[in-house]
Amino acid sequence: MDRKIIVSLVRQILEKEFKSPEKRRIHEYADRLNYACPVCQDSKDDRKKRGNLYLNRLYHICFNCGSKMTLDRLCRQFDLSMDPSTKLEMVEYLNSQIQVSDYQDEMDEFDFSALVSMGDLERVLSSRDHGISDFRPVRAGGPVSAYLSDRMITGNMRDNIYEARYWFGTHSYEDIMCLLNRRGDRVISMQIRNLKSGKRRMFKIYNYEALRKWVLPAESEELDVNTLVTLNKLSYYFNIFNVDFSREITIFEGYLDSLFFPNSIGVIGVNTSMKFLEVNSGLSIRYFFDNDAAGHRKAEQKLTQGFSVFLWKKLFDFVVAMKPASDPYRLMHRISKVKDLNELRTVSGDTFPKLGLEEHFSADAFDISYIPKRIPTHGGNRSEFR
Ligand SMILES: [Zn+2]
Repeated sequence: MDRKIIVSLVRQILEKEFKSPEKRRIHEYADRLNYACPVCQDSKDDRKKRGNLYLNRLYHICFNCGSKMTLDRLCRQFDLSMDPSTKLEMVEYLNSQIQVSDYQDEMDEFDFSALVSMGDLERVLSSRDHGISDFRPVRAGGPVSAYLSDRMITGNMRDNIYEARYWFGTHSYEDIMCLLNRRGDRVISMQIRNLKSGKRRMFKIYNYEALRKWVLPAESEELDVNTLVTLNKLSYYFNIFNVDFSREITIFEGYLDSLFFPNSIGVIGVNTSMKFLEVNSGLSIRYFFDNDAAGHRKAEQKLTQGFSVFLWKKLFDFVVAMKPASDPYRLMHRISKVKDLNELRTVSGDTFPKLGLEEHFSADAFDISYIPKRIPTHGGNRSEFR
Protein backbone atom coordinates (compact mmCIF):
# COMPACT_ATOMS: atom_id res chain seq x y z
CA MET A 1 0.00 0.00 0.00
CA ASP A 2 1.31 3.40 -0.92
CA ARG A 3 2.42 5.33 2.14
CA LYS A 4 0.99 8.50 0.57
CA ILE A 5 -2.51 7.05 0.82
CA ILE A 6 -2.10 6.35 4.53
CA VAL A 7 -0.67 9.82 5.15
CA SER A 8 -3.55 11.35 3.23
CA LEU A 9 -6.16 9.54 5.33
CA VAL A 10 -4.59 10.74 8.57
CA ARG A 11 -4.24 14.26 7.14
CA GLN A 12 -7.94 14.38 6.26
CA ILE A 13 -8.85 13.45 9.85
CA LEU A 14 -6.50 16.08 11.29
CA GLU A 15 -7.92 18.72 8.94
CA LYS A 16 -11.43 17.90 10.12
CA GLU A 17 -10.42 18.24 13.77
CA PHE A 18 -7.80 20.97 13.94
CA LYS A 19 -7.44 24.50 12.60
CA SER A 20 -3.82 25.37 13.36
CA PRO A 21 -1.18 24.34 10.78
CA GLU A 22 1.14 23.07 13.55
CA LYS A 23 -1.64 20.94 15.03
CA ARG A 24 -2.27 19.48 11.57
CA ARG A 25 1.40 18.62 10.99
CA ILE A 26 2.36 14.97 10.61
CA HIS A 27 5.86 13.77 11.44
CA GLU A 28 6.84 10.82 9.29
CA TYR A 29 9.16 8.09 10.54
CA ALA A 30 10.20 4.84 8.92
CA ASP A 31 7.79 2.72 10.96
CA ARG A 32 5.07 5.19 11.98
CA LEU A 33 3.32 8.49 11.55
CA ASN A 34 3.27 10.83 14.52
CA TYR A 35 0.57 13.47 15.05
CA ALA A 36 -1.59 15.28 17.58
CA CYS A 37 -4.18 12.72 18.67
CA PRO A 38 -7.59 13.57 17.19
CA VAL A 39 -9.38 11.34 19.72
CA CYS A 40 -8.37 13.35 22.82
CA GLN A 41 -7.28 16.51 20.92
CA ASP A 42 -3.90 16.02 22.62
CA SER A 43 -2.18 18.95 24.40
CA LYS A 44 -2.81 22.72 24.44
CA ASP A 45 0.78 22.85 23.25
CA ASP A 46 0.36 22.44 19.48
CA ARG A 47 3.79 20.86 19.11
CA LYS A 48 2.95 17.91 21.31
CA LYS A 49 2.09 14.87 19.22
CA ARG A 50 1.23 11.75 21.11
CA GLY A 51 -0.82 9.97 18.47
CA ASN A 52 0.97 7.35 16.39
CA LEU A 53 -0.02 5.26 13.44
CA TYR A 54 2.13 2.15 13.21
CA LEU A 55 2.55 1.32 9.56
CA ASN A 56 3.07 -2.44 9.81
CA ARG A 57 -0.43 -3.15 11.17
CA LEU A 58 -2.08 0.21 10.51
CA TYR A 59 -2.80 0.68 14.20
CA HIS A 60 -3.37 4.03 15.91
CA ILE A 61 -2.11 4.31 19.49
CA CYS A 62 -2.17 7.49 21.59
CA PHE A 63 0.20 7.90 24.53
CA ASN A 64 -1.96 10.63 26.04
CA CYS A 65 -5.47 9.14 26.13
CA GLY A 66 -4.51 5.53 25.56
CA SER A 67 -6.83 5.15 22.57
CA LYS A 68 -5.92 2.15 20.45
CA MET A 69 -7.70 1.23 17.23
CA THR A 70 -7.18 0.29 13.62
CA LEU A 71 -6.89 2.95 10.94
CA ASP A 72 -10.15 1.64 9.51
CA ARG A 73 -11.93 2.31 12.80
CA LEU A 74 -10.26 5.67 13.25
CA CYS A 75 -11.53 6.76 9.82
CA ARG A 76 -15.04 5.63 10.70
CA GLN A 77 -14.98 7.43 14.04
CA PHE A 78 -14.28 10.69 12.18
CA ASP A 79 -16.77 9.97 9.39
CA LEU A 80 -14.09 9.66 6.77
CA SER A 81 -15.21 7.21 4.15
CA MET A 82 -12.62 5.34 2.16
CA ASP A 83 -13.19 4.78 -1.53
CA PRO A 84 -13.40 1.10 -2.53
CA SER A 85 -9.99 0.99 -4.21
CA THR A 86 -8.29 2.39 -1.09
CA LYS A 87 -10.11 -0.15 1.03
CA LEU A 88 -9.03 -2.96 -1.27
CA GLU A 89 -5.45 -1.78 -1.14
CA MET A 90 -5.68 -1.79 2.65
CA VAL A 91 -7.00 -5.35 2.67
CA GLU A 92 -4.18 -6.51 0.41
CA TYR A 93 -1.58 -4.68 2.42
CA LEU A 94 -2.77 -6.12 5.74
CA ASN A 95 -3.04 -9.55 4.17
CA SER A 96 0.68 -9.44 3.46
CA GLN A 97 1.52 -8.08 6.93
CA ILE A 98 -0.64 -9.92 9.41
CA GLN A 99 0.94 -12.77 11.37
CA VAL A 100 -0.45 -15.36 13.72
CA SER A 101 1.10 -13.32 16.55
CA ASP A 102 -1.51 -10.61 15.92
CA TYR A 103 -4.15 -13.13 16.87
CA GLN A 104 -2.07 -14.53 19.75
CA ASP A 105 -1.53 -11.05 21.20
CA GLU A 106 -5.24 -10.57 21.42
CA MET A 107 -6.17 -14.18 22.13
CA ASP A 108 -7.11 -13.50 25.77
CA GLU A 109 -9.52 -10.80 24.67
CA PHE A 110 -10.27 -12.39 21.32
CA ASP A 111 -13.92 -11.97 20.56
CA PHE A 112 -15.13 -15.42 19.60
CA SER A 113 -18.66 -14.07 19.40
CA ALA A 114 -17.66 -12.43 16.08
CA LEU A 115 -17.48 -15.96 14.68
CA VAL A 116 -20.44 -17.80 13.21
CA SER A 117 -22.52 -19.86 15.62
CA MET A 118 -23.26 -23.51 14.86
CA GLY A 119 -26.95 -22.74 15.26
CA ASP A 120 -26.84 -20.10 12.52
CA LEU A 121 -24.83 -22.36 10.24
CA GLU A 122 -27.28 -25.22 10.75
CA ARG A 123 -30.13 -22.86 9.99
CA VAL A 124 -28.74 -21.57 6.67
CA LEU A 125 -27.64 -25.03 5.55
CA SER A 126 -30.96 -26.69 6.24
CA SER A 127 -32.41 -25.19 3.07
CA ARG A 128 -30.74 -25.39 -0.32
CA ASP A 129 -30.13 -21.63 -0.57
CA HIS A 130 -26.37 -22.02 -0.80
CA GLY A 131 -26.33 -25.28 -2.76
CA ILE A 132 -25.93 -27.32 0.42
CA SER A 133 -28.66 -29.01 2.46
CA ASP A 134 -29.16 -31.64 5.20
CA PHE A 135 -26.19 -30.36 7.18
CA ARG A 136 -25.86 -32.44 10.37
CA PRO A 137 -23.48 -34.53 12.50
CA VAL A 138 -22.25 -37.69 10.76
CA ARG A 139 -24.99 -40.34 10.90
CA ALA A 140 -24.01 -43.88 11.82
CA GLY A 141 -24.59 -46.10 8.80
CA GLY A 142 -24.48 -43.24 6.28
CA PRO A 143 -21.98 -42.92 3.41
CA VAL A 144 -19.84 -40.32 5.17
CA SER A 145 -19.62 -42.54 8.23
CA ALA A 146 -18.52 -45.48 6.08
CA TYR A 147 -15.88 -43.33 4.34
CA LEU A 148 -14.48 -42.20 7.69
CA SER A 149 -14.59 -45.67 9.23
CA ASP A 150 -12.51 -47.02 6.32
CA ARG A 151 -9.91 -44.44 7.28
CA MET A 152 -10.11 -45.25 10.99
CA ILE A 153 -11.59 -41.82 11.75
CA THR A 154 -13.94 -42.77 14.55
CA GLY A 155 -15.38 -41.53 17.87
CA ASN A 156 -14.29 -38.06 18.96
CA MET A 157 -12.04 -37.72 15.91
CA ARG A 158 -15.31 -36.85 14.18
CA ASP A 159 -16.13 -33.97 16.53
CA ASN A 160 -15.51 -31.36 13.83
CA ILE A 161 -16.89 -33.30 10.89
CA TYR A 162 -20.47 -32.92 9.66
CA GLU A 163 -22.20 -34.41 6.65
CA ALA A 164 -24.44 -32.73 4.08
CA ARG A 165 -25.73 -32.86 0.53
CA TYR A 166 -24.11 -30.79 -2.19
CA TRP A 167 -26.52 -29.95 -5.02
CA PHE A 168 -25.94 -29.78 -8.75
CA GLY A 169 -28.98 -27.93 -10.05
CA THR A 170 -32.25 -28.99 -8.46
CA HIS A 171 -32.33 -32.73 -9.07
CA SER A 172 -28.97 -34.29 -8.33
CA TYR A 173 -26.77 -34.14 -5.29
CA GLU A 174 -23.68 -35.73 -3.90
CA ASP A 175 -22.88 -36.67 -0.29
CA ILE A 176 -20.17 -34.50 1.20
CA MET A 177 -18.32 -34.19 4.47
CA CYS A 178 -18.01 -30.77 6.05
CA LEU A 179 -14.81 -30.16 8.00
CA LEU A 180 -15.38 -27.44 10.57
CA ASN A 181 -12.68 -25.10 11.76
CA ARG A 182 -14.18 -24.08 15.07
CA ARG A 183 -13.88 -23.71 18.77
CA GLY A 184 -16.87 -25.15 20.57
CA ASP A 185 -19.99 -23.56 19.17
CA ARG A 186 -18.14 -20.92 17.12
CA VAL A 187 -17.09 -21.59 13.53
CA ILE A 188 -14.53 -19.63 11.54
CA SER A 189 -14.46 -21.64 8.31
CA MET A 190 -15.63 -24.81 6.63
CA GLN A 191 -14.15 -27.10 4.02
CA ILE A 192 -16.37 -29.46 2.07
CA ARG A 193 -15.17 -32.62 0.33
CA ASN A 194 -16.92 -35.28 -1.65
CA LEU A 195 -16.22 -38.97 -1.05
CA LYS A 196 -14.50 -39.61 -4.36
CA SER A 197 -10.87 -39.87 -5.31
CA GLY A 198 -8.66 -38.95 -8.25
CA LYS A 199 -10.17 -36.71 -10.90
CA ARG A 200 -13.63 -36.89 -9.34
CA ARG A 201 -12.40 -35.47 -6.08
CA MET A 202 -13.99 -32.15 -5.16
CA PHE A 203 -13.25 -29.80 -2.33
CA LYS A 204 -14.11 -26.21 -1.52
CA ILE A 205 -13.30 -23.87 1.28
CA TYR A 206 -15.66 -21.28 2.73
CA ASN A 207 -13.61 -18.78 4.68
CA TYR A 208 -14.86 -16.54 7.47
CA GLU A 209 -16.11 -13.83 5.12
CA ALA A 210 -18.09 -16.38 3.10
CA LEU A 211 -19.76 -17.92 6.17
CA ARG A 212 -20.48 -14.48 7.59
CA LYS A 213 -22.26 -13.49 4.39
CA TRP A 214 -24.45 -16.58 4.70
CA VAL A 215 -25.61 -16.00 8.24
CA LEU A 216 -25.78 -12.24 8.64
CA PRO A 217 -28.46 -9.95 7.25
CA ALA A 218 -27.25 -7.52 4.59
CA GLU A 219 -27.54 -4.45 6.81
CA SER A 220 -25.18 -5.77 9.51
CA GLU A 221 -22.37 -3.47 10.55
CA GLU A 222 -19.26 -3.89 8.48
CA LEU A 223 -16.42 -5.58 10.31
CA ASP A 224 -13.19 -3.71 10.95
CA VAL A 225 -10.76 -4.46 8.09
CA ASN A 226 -7.94 -5.73 10.35
CA THR A 227 -10.29 -8.17 12.10
CA LEU A 228 -11.71 -9.37 8.80
CA VAL A 229 -8.28 -9.94 7.27
CA THR A 230 -7.08 -11.80 10.37
CA LEU A 231 -10.16 -14.04 10.47
CA ASN A 232 -9.92 -14.78 6.75
CA LYS A 233 -6.30 -15.76 7.26
CA LEU A 234 -7.06 -17.99 10.25
CA SER A 235 -9.73 -19.69 8.10
CA TYR A 236 -7.06 -21.68 6.27
CA TYR A 237 -5.54 -23.27 9.39
CA PHE A 238 -7.87 -25.98 10.64
CA ASN A 239 -7.85 -26.65 14.39
CA ILE A 240 -5.92 -23.45 15.09
CA PHE A 241 -8.29 -22.47 17.92
CA ASN A 242 -7.62 -25.71 19.76
CA VAL A 243 -3.84 -26.02 19.67
CA ASP A 244 -1.57 -25.18 22.56
CA PHE A 245 0.69 -22.38 21.26
CA SER A 246 3.24 -22.99 24.03
CA ARG A 247 3.99 -26.47 22.68
CA GLU A 248 5.40 -27.65 19.38
CA ILE A 249 2.76 -27.51 16.62
CA THR A 250 2.83 -29.93 13.70
CA ILE A 251 1.44 -28.74 10.36
CA PHE A 252 -0.24 -31.17 7.96
CA GLU A 253 -1.32 -30.66 4.35
CA GLY A 254 -4.90 -31.56 5.24
CA TYR A 255 -7.20 -31.78 8.24
CA LEU A 256 -7.91 -35.53 8.10
CA ASP A 257 -4.23 -36.45 8.51
CA SER A 258 -3.84 -34.00 11.37
CA LEU A 259 -6.47 -35.96 13.33
CA PHE A 260 -3.90 -38.69 13.94
CA PHE A 261 -1.35 -36.38 15.52
CA PRO A 262 -1.50 -34.39 18.78
CA ASN A 263 -1.34 -30.58 18.80
CA SER A 264 -1.55 -30.23 15.05
CA ILE A 265 -3.04 -27.98 12.38
CA GLY A 266 -4.33 -29.05 8.96
CA VAL A 267 -3.97 -26.56 6.13
CA ILE A 268 -5.56 -26.47 2.67
CA GLY A 269 -3.05 -28.35 0.59
CA VAL A 270 0.70 -28.34 0.24
CA ASN A 271 0.84 -24.85 -1.28
CA THR A 272 -0.91 -22.96 1.55
CA SER A 273 1.27 -20.02 2.54
CA MET A 274 2.97 -20.63 5.88
CA LYS A 275 4.40 -17.14 6.25
CA PHE A 276 1.52 -16.32 8.54
CA LEU A 277 2.70 -18.95 11.06
CA GLU A 278 6.43 -18.71 10.49
CA VAL A 279 7.43 -15.06 10.54
CA ASN A 280 8.11 -13.52 13.97
CA SER A 281 5.52 -15.77 15.53
CA GLY A 282 7.76 -17.20 18.23
CA LEU A 283 5.92 -20.47 17.63
CA SER A 284 7.63 -23.80 17.50
CA ILE A 285 6.31 -25.38 14.31
CA ARG A 286 7.32 -28.35 12.22
CA TYR A 287 5.96 -29.97 9.07
CA PHE A 288 4.50 -33.33 8.17
CA PHE A 289 4.03 -33.38 4.39
CA ASP A 290 2.65 -36.25 2.33
CA ASN A 291 4.93 -38.90 0.89
CA ASP A 292 4.53 -37.74 -2.70
CA ALA A 293 6.42 -35.55 -5.15
CA ALA A 294 4.81 -32.27 -4.00
CA GLY A 295 5.33 -33.23 -0.34
CA HIS A 296 8.98 -34.09 -0.94
CA ARG A 297 9.62 -30.79 -2.70
CA LYS A 298 8.03 -28.88 0.15
CA ALA A 299 9.87 -30.91 2.82
CA GLU A 300 13.16 -30.17 1.10
CA GLN A 301 12.34 -26.47 0.95
CA LYS A 302 11.36 -26.29 4.64
CA LEU A 303 14.36 -28.30 5.78
CA THR A 304 16.62 -25.96 3.82
CA GLN A 305 14.95 -23.03 5.62
CA GLY A 306 15.79 -24.65 8.96
CA PHE A 307 12.41 -26.10 9.87
CA SER A 308 11.94 -29.56 11.29
CA VAL A 309 10.18 -31.89 8.85
CA PHE A 310 8.96 -35.46 8.98
CA LEU A 311 11.23 -37.77 6.97
CA TRP A 312 9.31 -40.72 5.55
CA LYS A 313 12.47 -42.52 4.49
CA LYS A 314 13.73 -42.39 8.07
CA LEU A 315 10.52 -44.07 9.20
CA PHE A 316 10.78 -46.71 6.48
CA ASP A 317 14.42 -47.45 7.41
CA PHE A 318 13.29 -47.85 11.00
CA VAL A 319 10.51 -50.28 10.03
CA VAL A 320 12.85 -52.37 7.88
CA ALA A 321 15.46 -52.50 10.64
CA MET A 322 12.83 -53.41 13.23
CA LYS A 323 11.19 -56.16 11.24
CA PRO A 324 12.97 -59.40 10.35
CA ALA A 325 12.43 -59.88 6.61
CA SER A 326 14.01 -62.31 4.18
CA ASP A 327 14.23 -59.59 1.55
CA PRO A 328 14.56 -56.13 3.17
CA TYR A 329 14.70 -54.35 -0.20
CA ARG A 330 11.39 -55.80 -1.23
CA LEU A 331 9.90 -54.78 2.11
CA MET A 332 11.23 -51.24 1.69
CA HIS A 333 9.85 -51.05 -1.83
CA ARG A 334 6.40 -52.00 -0.61
CA ILE A 335 6.08 -49.89 2.51
CA SER A 336 7.42 -46.77 0.83
CA LYS A 337 4.21 -46.57 -1.21
CA VAL A 338 2.27 -45.26 1.81
CA LYS A 339 1.27 -41.73 0.84
CA ASP A 340 0.11 -39.98 3.99
CA LEU A 341 -0.38 -40.32 7.74
CA ASN A 342 -3.97 -41.48 7.38
CA GLU A 343 -2.88 -44.34 5.16
CA LEU A 344 0.02 -45.16 7.47
CA ARG A 345 -2.46 -45.36 10.33
CA THR A 346 -4.73 -47.79 8.49
CA VAL A 347 -2.00 -50.06 7.11
CA SER A 348 0.06 -50.22 10.30
CA GLY A 349 -2.86 -51.30 12.51
CA ASP A 350 -1.79 -52.15 16.06
CA THR A 351 1.85 -51.35 15.36
CA PHE A 352 1.06 -47.64 14.78
CA PRO A 353 2.03 -46.53 18.33
CA LYS A 354 5.34 -48.40 17.98
CA LEU A 355 6.40 -46.49 14.88
CA GLY A 356 7.81 -43.71 17.07
CA LEU A 357 6.84 -40.93 14.68
CA GLU A 358 8.46 -38.31 16.92
CA GLU A 359 11.85 -39.86 16.17
CA HIS A 360 11.60 -39.35 12.43
CA PHE A 361 11.49 -35.56 12.33
CA SER A 362 14.67 -33.66 11.64
CA ALA A 363 15.82 -30.07 11.18
CA ASP A 364 19.34 -31.15 10.25
CA ALA A 365 20.27 -29.97 6.73
CA PHE A 366 22.35 -33.12 6.20
CA ASP A 367 19.20 -35.21 6.51
CA ILE A 368 18.07 -33.83 3.15
CA SER A 369 19.49 -37.10 1.78
CA TYR A 370 16.44 -38.83 3.29
CA ILE A 371 14.13 -36.98 0.92
CA PRO A 372 13.65 -38.94 -2.30
CA LYS A 373 14.06 -37.30 -5.68
CA ARG A 374 11.95 -39.88 -7.42
CA ILE A 375 8.19 -40.10 -7.28
CA PRO A 376 7.00 -43.23 -5.46
CA THR A 377 4.26 -45.16 -7.22
CA HIS A 378 1.11 -45.78 -5.26
CA GLY A 379 -0.98 -48.88 -5.04
CA GLY A 380 -0.09 -52.48 -4.28
CA ASN A 381 0.01 -54.57 -1.16
CA ARG A 382 1.09 -52.69 1.95
CA SER A 383 0.27 -55.26 4.59
CA GLU A 384 3.97 -55.53 5.48
CA PHE A 385 3.52 -52.92 8.22
CA ARG A 386 1.66 -55.30 10.49
ZN1 LIG B 1 -5.33 10.65 22.48
